[in-house]
Amino acid sequence: MRFFDPHIHVTSRTTDDLENMQKAGIRAIIEPAFWLGQPRTQLGTFVDYYSSLVGWERFRAAQFGIAHYCAIGLNSKEANNEGLAKEVLELIPRFAFKEGVVAIGEIGYDEITAAEERAYQWQLDFAVKHDMVVMVHSPHRDKKNGIRRSLAVAKECKQPMGKLVIDHNNEETVEDVLEAGAWAAFTIYPHTKMGSERMVEIVRKYGPERLIVDSSADWGVSDPLSVPKTARMMLERGIDARHVELVTWKNALDAYGQSGQIDFAALESAPVVDQTQLFADNSVLRGQKPRVDAAVPN
Ligand SMILES: [Zn+2]
Repeated sequence: MRFFDPHIHVTSRTTDDLENMQKAGIRAIIEPAFWLGQPRTQLGTFVDYYSSLVGWERFRAAQFGIAHYCAIGLNSKEANNEGLAKEVLELIPRFAFKEGVVAIGEIGYDEITAAEERAYQWQLDFAVKHDMVVMVHSPHRDKKNGIRRSLAVAKECKQPMGKLVIDHNNEETVEDVLEAGAWAAFTIYPHTKMGSERMVEIVRKYGPERLIVDSSADWGVSDPLSVPKTARMMLERGIDARHVELVTWKNALDAYGQSGQIDFAALESAPVVDQTQLFADNSVLRGQKPRVDAAVPN
């Protein structure tokens, strides 16, 4: 099977992870802009971070056979530094239209503060004006209220629900999101929060429409293989293979493919890796023999 992990922070992951992801069938990923565990103090660090999402990280994933897309946005945590946040928002137009950017994200609420709301609204207005998909991060505390408010504010800003993905859902929030007509994404964390078992039951109960599975793997305890692992568990527990394919591949492609940035035909064929390629004179290798796949005729 092939998989799409539409939420993973691969900048924090190693080349071992990328190799294992490709072996496990992950064909494509989305890396949304987020915070890095420690607040940034200067505008320039955001410029370089966004540049790496559309540049080096995209190249690095491709060197391991994975198509890399990203979402550009100011995360909710750093929206609370309002002086800097204002400057960062002004950067969004510079990066949002670059190749491989499939959404504005991940944006939304963390502690549900007024400053977070202002940054969220600003970015929703931007997305509406440019007809873009939005990826919303939901708070880990007070999640139900956070998601209800995320949906309500998105509606007020006139973001089309078909172009809104609410992430980090659980059993308590899924109905609100599906009823609103948005996409409901679930992050599968190892050992805690949403695990694969709970995801199996959600798909059984609600069916596969508009449900999306992702890993949100980052610099913390997380698992870059949680999408393929969850798919395997779904199949073992009797979920229809077509439904598994929808929630681990096609739904996310349909949601983010609305950006026009995803080459569906290219994703259908096996990846062709050429590790002799360079990005700004840099390669991913350290003297190893490059992997160079023969091009497969269609
Ligand atoms: Zn994230």
